[in-house]
Amino acid sequence: MSEPSELRRDPAGGPWVIIAPRRAERPDEFAAREAAAGGLPMESCPFCPGHEGATPPETAAVREAGSVPDGPGWSVRVVPNKYPAVGTVAEPPPAAFDGGLFEVRPGAGAHEVVIETPDHNLDFSRLTSAVAGAVVRTWRDRIRALERDPGCAYVQLFKNHGRNAGASLSHPHSQIVALPVVPVRIAEEIEAAVLFRAAHGVCLHCRILEEETADGRRVILDEGGFLATAPFASRFPYEIRLQPRRHADRFVDLDDEETAALADRLRAVLGRLRRSLDDPPFNLLLHQSPPSGRGGRPDEEIAPAYHWHIEILPVLSRVAGFEWGTGIHINTVAPETAAARLRREEA
Ligand SMILES: [Zn+2]
Ligand SMILES: [Zn+2]
Ligand SMILES: [Zn+2]
Repeated sequence: MSEPSELRRDPAGGPWVIIAPRRAERPDEFAAREAAAGGLPMESCPFCPGHEGATPPETAAVREAGSVPDGPGWSVRVVPNKYPAVGTVAEPPPAAFDGGLFEVRPGAGAHEVVIETPDHNLDFSRLTSAVAGAVVRTWRDRIRALERDPGCAYVQLFKNHGRNAGASLSHPHSQIVALPVVPVRIAEEIEAAVLFRAAHGVCLHCRILEEETADGRRVILDEGGFLATAPFASRFPYEIRLQPRRHADRFVDLDDEETAALADRLRAVLGRLRRSLDDPPFNLLLHQSPPSGRGGRPDEEIAPAYHWHIEILPVLSRVAGFEWGTGIHINTVAPETAAARLRREEA
């Protein structure tokens, strides 16, 4: 548990890498289940009610009146990750690597787990509207709280569903990582949006929403102020992008009504994915602009250009040599076909 994590960057080019040896110590429920040759005893799930002592003390929770922290009676519970990718304390990187060719930063930030329901066997699409709404509100509130740290450059929300998508526990949960750097992926998306707005005077994503609505072939769901599409150049089979129609660069600016609407759209979209593809593993991630002043460009340039969204990436194929070598993905399902199939699945 002693080795601190750190961020490194390859001088030969590429995004940041987090070196986090202590994450290797986390338990693997799926491996344990295989070893036991039967269902994992829920008695050993650290996220189930009654096991609150198996996680670090909770950071936040949605609780019944009268229930006490770190006891049962919650519907959504947030705890620090026991095996964090980044630590809360800025531990200085080893002096040998400091500066020069090899760029390194302390792995300072936060890594939290949002336990989305007390029910071990539910998934997001089957949560009640009220609980799903509470989950999305909790995402917003925790991201807001973590962004208040002046050392935080970006907060990434994500969800790994299923072992092949990287989950080590099946109990429904999502994760939030506060980072000391803006990820390259976000910087690239912002750059594309800012350039588009400079050339055309409008938000790139608002324009995409318009075009996709008019075309219709890649629309999966269009309801309550949100549009879900199979992106024009989907990298993965059944990739989904969920976006608000109203222009906004920051997810954290949503009010309670909007978070409730988003939760319902997310339940619908994930439900269609689950039913049409027999509960496939997927990664879900949120992209928004970084907190004020930390986006590498003036806020006035980013806010009207960038548009927050959720990406859902089913894990149905493997990223292999060609993709790693070129950055070019080979997708065997046309997004138009994917959208048609997901559209037919009624909510
Ligand atoms: Zn559980
Ligand atoms: Zn927009
Ligand atoms: Zn994105």
